[in-house]
Amino acid sequence: MSILCVGSVALDSVETPSGKADRVIGGSAVFFASAASLLSPVRVVGVVGDDYPLDQLAFLEARGADLSGIEQRSGDSFFWAGRYHDDMNTRDTLDTRLGVFADFEPKIPDAFRESKRVFLGNIDPLLQHKVLDQVDAPEVVVCDTMNYWIEGSRPALMELLGRISILMVNDEEVRQLADEPNLLRAARWVQERGPGMVVVKKGEHGAILFADSWTFFIPGFPLERIFDPTGAGDAFAGGFLGCLAQQNSTEPADLRRAMVYGSTLGSFAVEKFSVERLIDLGHDEIDDRVRAFKELTSFETLLPVEQRV
Ligand code: AMP
Repeated sequence: MSILCVGSVALDSVETPSGKADRVIGGSAVFFASAASLLSPVRVVGVVGDDYPLDQLAFLEARGADLSGIEQRSGDSFFWAGRYHDDMNTRDTLDTRLGVFADFEPKIPDAFRESKRVFLGNIDPLLQHKVLDQVDAPEVVVCDTMNYWIEGSRPALMELLGRISILMVNDEEVRQLADEPNLLRAARWVQERGPGMVVVKKGEHGAILFADSWTFFIPGFPLERIFDPTGAGDAFAGGFLGCLAQQNSTEPADLRRAMVYGSTLGSFAVEKFSVERLIDLGHDEIDDRVRAFKELTSFETLLPVEQRV
């Protein structure tokens, strides 16, 4: 089942304690598609300038991704620059240049309108609405956002909550949105306003899925070296929705597995700069890491009663 994804298609300059990358391909749609396309067909909608190395997205097409929704206009592509601190959990944004993204109006190609699985990358909530206006009958809509929109575009975002199935944000963002420091209460606050589920990402510490009557937690995969955390959240979303789309089910067991695939793809994304690690990632490597997660998190159940003191 194909997934429609709309988001930024960017050039990123990134500095981390492990090194530097200059004007490499990035953006929420690119990270999402690089992960999701390993599991399901993806349709990408976005905009780039005439400086964008579209040939570097050929690996996505080779995996069956449909990039015909990426519009190329004259001008500069969206550009983002960031520098990570030593702990890799915090970063400074050094530069954001919107370029052709400034007047991006998502146009969903006719062939994409019947998409049942939709990822709304972190863009203006008004544009996220416009995407949904053009999709016939989406069944699972996963939506990301950030502090900038929570502060500056709250009414549109609040209305959007009534149109999506899963809000997928980081812990700071959900606390800010709900104005509530407790994560569980913040997630419940969001759920009461529309989305049946909230996925809260906690960087290297994993992610929590809050559903109606149950909750699931998946850790981040322990890595000795994190190269570049950029796009890990979008790769998580790609693994999550890619897995759900392949299963064509949102039963609790499938949602739990989707969380594992999300954390798996997120963990690969940080092992190299840009989407480099996702380009030639093999299914055997994905399988091994999913198995390692199983090992990492499974345990025998309660101590036998007779052994208790
Ligand atoms: P993340 O690490 O999940 O925040 O995603 C980082 C990616 O998002 C980078 O590749 C950036 O190009 C892109 N990005 C950064 N800021 C924005 C923004 N304001 N709007 C859309 N995309 C952005």
